[in-house]
Amino acid sequence: MNRDNKTRDINDLKLEVIPRQEHGISRKDISENALKVLYRLNKAGYEAYLVGGGVRDLLLNKQPKDFDIATNATPEDVRKLFRNCRLVGRRFRLAHILFGRDVIEVATFRGHHGGEKGAKFASQSNDGMLLRDNVYGTIDEDAERRDFTVNALYYNIDDFSVRDYAGGMEDLENGVIRLIGDPETRYREDPVRMLRAVRFAAKLDMRINEATAAPIPGLAHLLRDIPAARLFEESLKLLQSGDGLATYQMLRDYNLFAPLFPILEEHFTEDRNSKCEQMLELVLRSTDERVANDQRINPAFMYAAMLWYPLETRAEEIAFESGLSYYDAFMVAANDILDEQVKSIAIPRRFTAMIRDIWQLQLRLSRRSGNRAYKLLEQPKFRAAFDFLEMRGQVEGGQLKELAKWWDSFQKAERDARHNMVQVLNKASNNKKVRRRKSKPRRKKPQPKQES
Ligand code: ATP
Ligand code: MG
Repeated sequence: MNRDNKTRDINDLKLEVIPRQEHGISRKDISENALKVLYRLNKAGYEAYLVGGGVRDLLLNKQPKDFDIATNATPEDVRKLFRNCRLVGRRFRLAHILFGRDVIEVATFRGHHGGEKGAKFASQSNDGMLLRDNVYGTIDEDAERRDFTVNALYYNIDDFSVRDYAGGMEDLENGVIRLIGDPETRYREDPVRMLRAVRFAAKLDMRINEATAAPIPGLAHLLRDIPAARLFEESLKLLQSGDGLATYQMLRDYNLFAPLFPILEEHFTEDRNSKCEQMLELVLRSTDERVANDQRINPAFMYAAMLWYPLETRAEEIAFESGLSYYDAFMVAANDILDEQVKSIAIPRRFTAMIRDIWQLQLRLSRRSGNRAYKLLEQPKFRAAFDFLEMRGQVEGGQLKELAKWWDSFQKAERDARHNMVQVLNKASNNKKVRRRKSKPRRKKPQPKQES
């Protein structure tokens, strides 16, 4: 039988228990806080397992991003055990145990949503999307509700064994992302699973098995029904977790990128080499590098870069159609583009404000005479704006590249050298003014309110 083409049929789930001495997970690799929660649940008589990415990544010798716990205690039971506990989520009720900034997520085993219990505690939209999923069940049922086989591995704190319900161990070894159950049903229940398939494949350098991959391009449009706030969270996991470039490329292969960024679609080309696409590659590559070096990353910078070329195009269109000055058209276009983007991905306000700053500073960076350059250096978003100018220079070359070089030298220069750099510009701009005056008698014109 060629199992590799198929997804894992629910009826084929068969528990395999791997004892402590036969797997590589050791307690010293699990965070102290996660262990505390596991032990306390266990002591109180509940079943308690580490599950999901925590187990998967440890088995792959990778550092897990977070530790998720599954238990037969209900969220209310969990709250009684932990003072530092908060219940969250409507669609999917969970307990969060808070240890300062570290949050350990505790989920109660999910059951089937059919039957009487299902009717009361689960709800589904007409097209099969799960709106609520709060039917509790056993660990066996919980395993069926997990998305991929490699995510249905449970580390048991009671005897330190790993419970493998869906052949996840074998798939981990072979590098296969395989969905549990009927793919179309599972994607319709929760279209975000398509994004997760790609995310894990890119991050873990695995391949998506045939039956899991096949329906994705045809169902990608379902992402348009996902709340924009959830897609914002998801977009960060996809693009800012250290494998953003690979993930982006794979998302495009599966038609999953356009529903997230509809505005970018018309800037895309067959060879993926338009200015917009070059910028995407640059910003994602630099984000990946920063993550690898433990440097800070800011979503506003990434979004500002991703949406820049659509913004420029829109600003030109508006300036042409309305006769507004380019500066005013640019500001109108900035609002337009952000309003459109937040419909699919709800970028929070604190970031959209920063995106606007980075954009607006691009216009100001070319005006450096007088004391403007000094003032710009003091802008809180100067550094981000300069980094972005450099990327634009890399994409476009020419004057932009020169401008970025000028700013680079200006920042590094001593006081006198800076003064000289500005003097050179002042002279040049005075010469221009004189020439202009000679060629055309100056007419009195009301001064438009704009930076110059
Ligand atoms: P990481 O934390 O590294 O992003 P993860 O696999 O732990 O990856 P989480 O979002 O933390 O992902 O979810 C924990 C586990 O919950 C998953 O491994 C999976 O078993 C289950 N899960 C999460 N989201 C879904 C979903 N949309 N459908 C089915 N199961 C899910
Ligand atoms: Mg996780």
